[in-house]
Amino acid sequence: MVDLISQYQKIKPEVDKAISDTVTSSAYINGPEVKAFQAELEKYLNVGHVINCANGTDALQIAMMALNLQPGDEVITASFTYVATAEVIALLKLKPVLVEVIPGTFSIDPVAIEKAITPKTKAIVPVHLFGQCADMEPIMQIAAKHKLYVIEDVAQAIGADYTFSDGRKQKAGTIGTIGCTSFFPSKNLGCMGDGGALFTNDDTLAKKIRMIANHGQSVQYVHDEIGVNSRLDSIQAAILRVKLKHLDSYAAARQKAAAYYDKAFSGNAKIKTPERSKNSTHVFHQYTLVVNGVNRDELRQYLAEKEIPAMIYYPIPLHMQKAYKDDRYKEGNFPVTEKLCANVLSLPMHTELDEEQLEYITRAVLEFCK
Ligand SMILES: *Cc1c(COP(=O)(O)O)cnc(C)c1O
Repeated sequence: MVDLISQYQKIKPEVDKAISDTVTSSAYINGPEVKAFQAELEKYLNVGHVINCANGTDALQIAMMALNLQPGDEVITASFTYVATAEVIALLKLKPVLVEVIPGTFSIDPVAIEKAITPKTKAIVPVHLFGQCADMEPIMQIAAKHKLYVIEDVAQAIGADYTFSDGRKQKAGTIGTIGCTSFFPSKNLGCMGDGGALFTNDDTLAKKIRMIANHGQSVQYVHDEIGVNSRLDSIQAAILRVKLKHLDSYAAARQKAAAYYDKAFSGNAKIKTPERSKNSTHVFHQYTLVVNGVNRDELRQYLAEKEIPAMIYYPIPLHMQKAYKDDRYKEGNFPVTEKLCANVLSLPMHTELDEEQLEYITRAVLEFCK
């Protein structure tokens, strides 16, 4: 699905130097590399504050702690997403309120969000799934109208641009109250271990986030709040500094592969290629097909026999997961999500796909779907 080795080979001298320089510096935690990476990412995203942490799941948790969400508060998020989003809501004893997604773009449906709002709703967590932004303009309008926080889950879409109706452009993750991302190796901006970050333009909130991520301390050994221990180490920051410089060219490589897939599958009635949102660029964390009239699992098996990996993101909707069983939800409640879970298939998508590989993959898919 991804080819991290080939990607590394191309930037090996830069990455190896970054690692060895950090090792000899002995500033392994919160060293100059971490601060430099934060500043460079702030500039790239055009956001006031980047605060690093240990992973994307922690970023979401820290965001909800920093916003002082309390047990019982309702948090609205998409029914079709990775589990981390709902996990932290549940861990903090908040109440996850799931809403449906738009079938073409897989993004959370703003109309469904507004319908789900109650007096207990405190926040909306839009997920920029597979690499393009959820429809942030209506989401921000709904949030303003009902005085809700917006926590963007930008783990799959770092670098995507959202364009507002007045022509203003903003990077994914810098539009809401807080943006949360992950630097897991397979993400678009991935390190060689775990990492994550929060983004915000609010100075007061940035201070609080920094404090919570660091044991709730403002001054060493002075603890104003209960916090967590969540940091990005200096070696990962040094690697991320190298990879950030390539992020836009990596996105271009992914977009090129996506265009190849689009063209190859166009006109095939059994294969629906991913729809592009009108207002967002797509950085293709995943290239996800929706098949109809063929058995998705048999297609996946057929590809596996030809040594083509294909993945199902995500096979079981949140409301059907044992851990998130809830009397409010049952099978049939989220027909769009349930149908997607049964029919989506993500093809290999990364920065190193060449024409020969794309030709081989698309030929196999088309053979099965003829
Ligand atoms: C990867 C991911 C996360 C979690 O990031 P980790 O660094 O693995 O904790 C959260 N949300 C989404 C949508 C993701 O894809």
